[in-house]
Amino acid sequence: MINIAIDGPSGAGKSTVAKAVAEKLDILYLDTGAMYRACGLYALRKGINPEDEREVKKILPEINVDVLYKNGTQITLLNGEDVSMQIREHKISKAASDISKHKQVRIKLVDMQRKIAAKTSVVLDGRDIGTYVLPNCKNKFYLTASVKVRAERRFKELKEKGAECNFDTLYNDIIQRDYNDTHRDFAPLKQADDAVFIDSSNMTKEQVRDYILERLNI
Ligand code: C5P
Repeated sequence: MINIAIDGPSGAGKSTVAKAVAEKLDILYLDTGAMYRACGLYALRKGINPEDEREVKKILPEINVDVLYKNGTQITLLNGEDVSMQIREHKISKAASDISKHKQVRIKLVDMQRKIAAKTSVVLDGRDIGTYVLPNCKNKFYLTASVKVRAERRFKELKEKGAECNFDTLYNDIIQRDYNDTHRDFAPLKQADDAVFIDSSNMTKEQVRDYILERLNI
């Protein structure tokens, strides 16, 4: 059994690298951000402001997030509906970031993440995996890159998909999400003391993957 925690800010390439590491080791990859995104989507569908703690608390019992795997790929379910595509929309990034600051939301999702990690070998990517979800995990990594590089990567990714995007907007969104993630009261984004720090600004995804594989305590 092995658990690998990869934390870091938005757009640092965590999901790409986590997927590649999981594939090499033939274990699961759990995208915890997708779970917060599903909650954000539910709030928007209900016409609720994800920042409004009282309103979010009211709808929380109605939200059932689940994950399953099809050919090794994570499918995210919101009350049984496959929302894997919808949660990638730009407006959901902001909603996820806003809803994730509420303690009750985090406790609900963290409980699920811990249960998955307890019963299966898995690479988890997120913001608080090494500090809060799995503090005793033996394999922790903190992956980051400069804001400029992260915005450039996102810009390229969206352009390739043919999506409309503006570099300055993406750049400012990243700064805003970094601020939200590092300043929330409960389980903020923070490098764990025992995490291996990786700045991927000048690294390819294969280099980051191999660097992680070399440093695993198996
Ligand atoms: O990783 P991703 O960008 O999909 O995550 C969406 C949002 O969910 C992030 O902006 C972050 O605020 C939140 N999140 C979190 N803790 C995690 C994973 C994601 O707070 N473990």
